Amino acid sequence: MKKLIIVTLMIMVASCAAVKQTTAPGEGRSSPTVSDPKGVAAGDPSSPVASEGQDHLILATLWFQKSAEMRALFYQCFRNAETALKENLELQRQASAAPEPHTPESPTVSVLSSGETGGTTSDSSAPGDSGPESHKKPAVVLDIDETLLDNSPFQGWQVHEKKSFNNDDWFRWVELARARPLPGAVEFTRYADSLGVEVFYVSNRTVQEMGPTIKNMAAWGFVNADSTHMLLKETTSSKVERRALVEKDYEILLLIGDNLADLSGVYEKRGPDYGFETVDSDRRLFGTKYIVLPNPMYGNWLNDLLRSAPGSTEREKLLQMLDSF
Ligand SMILES: [Mg+2]
Repeated sequence: MKKLIIVTLMIMVASCAAVKQTTAPGEGRSSPTVSDPKGVAAGDPSSPVASEGQDHLILATLWFQKSAEMRALFYQCFRNAETALKENLELQRQASAAPEPHTPESPTVSVLSSGETGGTTSDSSAPGDSGPESHKKPAVVLDIDETLLDNSPFQGWQVHEKKSFNNDDWFRWVELARARPLPGAVEFTRYADSLGVEVFYVSNRTVQEMGPTIKNMAAWGFVNADSTHMLLKETTSSKVERRALVEKDYEILLLIGDNLADLSGVYEKRGPDYGFETVDSDRRLFGTKYIVLPNPMYGNWLNDLLRSAPGSTEREKLLQMLDSF
C-alpha cells in the first residue's frame, strides 16, 4: 500500500507540473460540476473534461473500498443513528403525551425540531414546544448514494477509463442495479421500521433512475424501497422542498447522509470558510439529529473547493488548496 501511495502521489505531482494554467477558476474542464457523480450538480456529457485523468481519485476510492476503517466508521455511524433515533422517538412520545404548554418560558434544549432553517436558534425547541409537530408520525430521511449504496466501483471505472463524471456513464451504472449496500445500512432501515418510524429516501438520483434504484435496493432488503418513499430529483438538486413534502405528514427525527446538504438547507451554501462556522454552530446536532457518513471521493465539499481554487485541472486545483508548511 505504501508503494501505491507513493506512486499515486508521484503521478499527481508529475501531471500537475506539466499543466499550464490556461482557464479561469471554475471554467472549462476544471468545472466543479465534473467531479460529482450524483447530481449535486450534474456534469455536462459533451464537455471535453471527459478525457481528463482521474488519478486523484485513486486513494480516496481505495480507502472507501479497501480500508477496514471505512467499514468500522459506517458501523459506528449507523449504531449512533440507532441510538439517536430511539432517543428522539422517546422525546417525541413525551412531547405528544405532555399537556399543551401555556407559557413558553425557559425552554429546555432538545435536538428535535421542524422545518429547514436549521442552526442553533431554530433547533432549540423543547419537547412539547413543537405543537402539532409532536402529533405527526415519526420519520427518518436518508440519502442513498454513499449513504446506503456503494458506488465506488463507478469511481474506480472512471479512474481506469480516465473519464470525469458524465450523466450517460452514470446512468449505465445505475441501470445495472449492481451497487452493494454499505455496512450497517440495510440493518438500520429495518431497525427504524421496527420502531414504527417511516423510512424515506431523499436522493439526487433522477426520477428517470427510479426503476433500477428500487430494484437495486429491494434486492438487498432495504425497507420501503418503492416510489412512495423515494423522493428523487426532478428539477433541483436542493433537497429542501422534498424534505418539506415529508414534513407535511411526518416529523423527521433523524437525517442521514454523506453530504451536509442531505441534512439541512443551511449547508447548501458554504462561504469562504468552507462552511466550518455553520457546522461549528450546529455541533450539538451531529450525532443527535444529523448523522454524517464519510465520503472522501466527491461531494459539495469538493465542488466548492474546485470552484474557488486557481488552476486549470482538477489535480492542479486540489494541489493548490493543500495546506502545507
Ligand atoms: Mg450521497
